[in-house]
Amino acid sequence: MSIYIIGAGVTGLSFASAIGGGTVLERAPELGGKASSYSVHTSVGKFTFDIGGHWFHLQNAPKVMQLLEGLPLKKHVRRAFVYWDEEWFDFPIQQSYRTHPDSRLVDQIEHELAAVENEAAIRSHNYLNYSDMLLNSYGPTLFEHFFRDYNVKMYGVPNLSQIQIGKYEKVRNVRTNQSIEGYNHYFYYPQGNLGASEIPKHLAKNKQIRYNSHVQSINLNKRTMTINNQVSSWETIVSTIPLPKLIDTIADVDSEIAHLSQELQSSRGLIINMGVKRNPMHANKSWIYISDLKYRFYRIGFYSNVESEMAPSGYSSMYVECSPLYFKNQHEALNLVPEVINDLIEIGIIEDKRDIMTLKPIYLEHNYCLPDIEVTTHIQNYLRQHGIYSIGRYGSWHWSSQHEDMQQAISLAEELGAYQILGIY
Ligand SMILES: Cc1cc2nc3c(=O)[nH]c(=O)nc-3n(C[C@H](O)[C@H](O)[C@H](O)COP(=O)(O)OP(=O)(O)OC[C@H]3O[C@@H](n4cnc5c(N)ncnc54)[C@H](O)[C@@H]3O)c2cc1C
Repeated sequence: MSIYIIGAGVTGLSFASAIGGGTVLERAPELGGKASSYSVHTSVGKFTFDIGGHWFHLQNAPKVMQLLEGLPLKKHVRRAFVYWDEEWFDFPIQQSYRTHPDSRLVDQIEHELAAVENEAAIRSHNYLNYSDMLLNSYGPTLFEHFFRDYNVKMYGVPNLSQIQIGKYEKVRNVRTNQSIEGYNHYFYYPQGNLGASEIPKHLAKNKQIRYNSHVQSINLNKRTMTINNQVSSWETIVSTIPLPKLIDTIADVDSEIAHLSQELQSSRGLIINMGVKRNPMHANKSWIYISDLKYRFYRIGFYSNVESEMAPSGYSSMYVECSPLYFKNQHEALNLVPEVINDLIEIGIIEDKRDIMTLKPIYLEHNYCLPDIEVTTHIQNYLRQHGIYSIGRYGSWHWSSQHEDMQQAISLAEELGAYQILGIY
């Protein structure tokens, strides 16, 4: 079967690995997509960054691990914190709330968590929407004090009841006070100072990748596509580009499908990577969660606390994930940077603007996809009938992490009867 794979990110490259072939078309001059890394040389030394924290949250996925065989991945214990009421609490907050100085608040939360902590009841609960899931997993007090505003900031959606529950959110968010671990208690990361892009680079070995190959349009009836103004024929396409963009690319798409795809929404993203002078506040923090609406960021992480070689001695390489509540487009996002720096100084993550050795804001048109299961299922079925499979976090239009995207790529290879047992090709 001749297969074109659109996108040399983790998903496209995993699919190519799983079938042991295919032609990967990548618009950019480099591979990696969202799992890219870069280094900056400064007067104090070299800093390395990803596009936000790209930690590998592996959960019992042996075939995924097979694809990564030979790649030195180091296991880390999460050291995460929550900034709440201007104090630092261990993550998860549904455990550490007990250290809050207000004993009435603590009793109230304890009482509410007891009401929702029966795991069996939680698993069988059919949540109406995202807000309902959070409220019925953590109780009203923790919801109001942390989960509501954190998620409002992360998605940039003021009313969380407008967000559906996707495939993976249940797994991620439903953590009662019975388990301190959650889905990311341990995580993996490529060893050394090369960053998360080591994963797609490993997957890309011996693959046929055509860089600078922009898929401009696809024709379903003629089974042709235009790549850099040249027309090629195709039999099967596996696409990893954002689903609404894929639909836009199809010249003869059904008008109902085109219309439906316009309903799909996602949050925009602004990641600010910074190389800064280290201060004691950075110590022992993999990442931190900030729900307070007065700060423009919802999560901050330290690459160099995971792999110390990612910043020179005495410095930290860090990322700041900013809320789309505070910008509507790239121009507004980039204008936010000075205010974000002031916020970082206010909470003590940096002491002085002069401590910043390097800074790069990265604007993302698509960060979190807001799931719409009915619409995506309808579109996916239509595409499949025409020999196009749209997979990955943006191709499926759900919230997934790298290991889930890799598993999805493997499952599709199996479904198509093209999965190669590793080592025989
Ligand atoms: C800020 C942020 C933080 C994240 N943190 C984590 C984390 O900690 N852990 C984790 O596991 N996951 C994390 N993720 C998710 C992870 O990035 C994704 O699950 C994964 O990288 C998606 O890979 P992909 O290959 O499906 O898509 P992408 O990486 O988006 O790759 C798609 C590729 O398609 C190419 N392309 C687009 N249009 C065309 C075209 N017309 N023609 C040809 N090529 C095209 C693009 O250039 C790109 O290379 C994070 C994501 C973001 C945005």
